[in-house]
Amino acid sequence: MTDCLFCKMVSGEIAPDKVFENNDVLAFRDINPQAPTHVLAIPKQHVPSLNHADDASLLGGLLLFARDVARAEGLGDAGYRVVVNTNAGAGQTVFHIHAHVLGGRALTWPPG
Ligand code: AMP
Ligand code: ZN
Repeated sequence: MTDCLFCKMVSGEIAPDKVFENNDVLAFRDINPQAPTHVLAIPKQHVPSLNHADDASLLGGLLLFARDVARAEGLGDAGYRVVVNTNAGAGQTVFHIHAHVLGGRALTWPPG
């Protein structure tokens, strides 16, 4: 997807503040952090949203990757939140599926 912001990060056209990557996934810091740790975990493959996802391996891999990012950020014991906003009503603004990994402060429930 040539006009997708996150695909441009995967291709290197735009350089994110990278945290980790491997063949399948990329993690980088959110440009507008909502918590002391706010990392976005994305699959390198373009999938617009959770509504479009049908690959259990991709989704499971993304969730485990988000867990590993949280651990690497030192959040494993204190706790963290993994969020997948889906469509405009939930605040999705970038239509390349991504998991927000949030932590480093008390996270209230229910979310806004
Ligand atoms: P969502 O609103 O769930 O689609 O999340 C998209 C996220 O991407 C937001 O939290 C934005 O702050 C973040 N974002 C937008 N542009 C960039 C960028 N250039 N680098 C890092 N994060 C970005
Ligand atoms: Zn994309």
